[in-house]
Amino acid sequence: MEEGKKLTTASGIPYYHHEDTMSVGQRGPLLLQDFILHEKMAHFNRERIPERVVHAKGTGAYGTFTVTDDISKYTRAKLFNQIGKQTKVFLRFSTVGGEKGSADTERDPRGFAVKFYTEEGNWDLVGNNTPIFFIKDPKKFSDFIHTQKRDPKTNTKSPTMMWDFWSHNPEALHQVLFLFSDRGTPYSYRHMHGFGSHTFSFINANNERHWVKFHFKSMQGIKNFTNEEATRMKGEDADWAQRDLVEAIERGDHPKWAVRVQVMTEEQAKTYKWNPFDLTKVWQHKDFPLIDVGVLELNKIPDNYFADVEQSAFAPAHVVDGIGYSPDRMLQGRLLSYPDAHRYRLGVNYEQLPVNRCPYAVNNYERDGAMRVDGNAGSAPNYFPNSFDNIQPDAAYKQMGMELDSNIAAVFDRNGPGEDDHYSQPGMFYRDVLSAEDKTSLVNNIVGAMKGIATEKKQQIIMRQLCHFFRADMELGMRIAQGLALDMAEVMSNMPQPKKEVEGESAMV
Ligand code: NDP
Repeated sequence: MEEGKKLTTASGIPYYHHEDTMSVGQRGPLLLQDFILHEKMAHFNRERIPERVVHAKGTGAYGTFTVTDDISKYTRAKLFNQIGKQTKVFLRFSTVGGEKGSADTERDPRGFAVKFYTEEGNWDLVGNNTPIFFIKDPKKFSDFIHTQKRDPKTNTKSPTMMWDFWSHNPEALHQVLFLFSDRGTPYSYRHMHGFGSHTFSFINANNERHWVKFHFKSMQGIKNFTNEEATRMKGEDADWAQRDLVEAIERGDHPKWAVRVQVMTEEQAKTYKWNPFDLTKVWQHKDFPLIDVGVLELNKIPDNYFADVEQSAFAPAHVVDGIGYSPDRMLQGRLLSYPDAHRYRLGVNYEQLPVNRCPYAVNNYERDGAMRVDGNAGSAPNYFPNSFDNIQPDAAYKQMGMELDSNIAAVFDRNGPGEDDHYSQPGMFYRDVLSAEDKTSLVNNIVGAMKGIATEKKQQIIMRQLCHFFRADMELGMRIAQGLALDMAEVMSNMPQPKKEVEGESAMV
């Protein structure tokens, strides 16, 4: 037999008996001294790490980002500083609410998290396939996610919890309409857009700030499942989207996204008709047109899923020089909670795992901790300042201040005056963006889902939610009410009454 590799224990000791355990006699009890049995079982028992509380089911690939256009007047970030420049990326796609084994075609937003391995450190843009989200204050996140998970008693998904939450939170309406349109069930990860969603800063060489939103437009085009197709695919192939991505990349059909940005000056932000830091709103394209930046291509499936996809960790806090945060409350909330989740799930040294490791220099005084595997900086000093090493903080990376318009520390109503237009953008979405066919799918998908509300509160929840649909658009409200076969006299008695004519327009109160 050709000389092969020897089978060894985890400690490298060659051994022979891999399949039979030492016992007392042919049919007698097993011996504890056969520690290899224990090593195999004990390691197996520990194979699972905690799955992500959200975005548990996912898949990922490596690729490249290539700059196609000069945006140096907005940002000095080095990854953008030369046309043709390429930066390695890792992108993880996911669904949000389901567990690690759930179906890929569930109606759900899709995660779109990109790690750019830049020469100035790793930049994580941790977005979704929608430009908006259901909530705008991070204090509401755990409540919201509980409604997308399992009922505490029945342990099943609950349309009651979902619609109860959405009906109590009018700011969710915009994303609810995206979710129940056919874009809520994308055909594959390749056929959907990605969005950084939050507002970030771009800082240029003159230390000038622009606010920025990132868009990744699928160059494969948009393709969706209908509700029926998505439901059928759950049974036929629960891993459909993962399989599609792997097979496309392995056959050389490398998916691409056009990377574009919208930019807004600080002055424009002060007077924009909507809060530009509100994650439930978009910036209209006619006000802030898309600017070309580059192309992102995925071209390599990792050799080992667990090593690179399951252990990948993204943090919106990880921005590089030339990119910064904004007062977007949801972004602010995520800055600390993402690294916190990774420390729980992967351990304090999660950034040393190959997929997360910065391929360029990492010099600091963080030491020790569970599973330190990089040599722990050897004999180098573990304190700063010191007389021995030559690590110097570089003043070129001083952070720029952010001008605020208030010095009052208080709890403000997230939906208070000026923050309470929950209906204009959902109305525009329904009237101006969706085709006639899209509208019909949206209505049918909503009606189908609301029929699942099963509780003595059903009527109350439906009426409260219907008010939101009517406020966004009368036709939308009517079609959903009719689809639910509601008594129209009762619906109208519950509906918001038209306000007196305001400058010739009739408005709902
Ligand atoms: P525009 O009329 O300039 O563009 C419409 C946008 O909607 C395009 O980005 C288009 O993306 C996208 N779109 C088309 N069909 C759907 C769909 N079924 N589901 C989700 N998105 C779709 O839009 P405005 O900027 O004037 O905004 C109007 C409304 O459009 C907003 O209130 C918002 O609801 C929606 N929208 C706006 C976006 C933005 O960033 N401004 C982004 C996405 C939606 P595509 O390239 O695929 O056609």
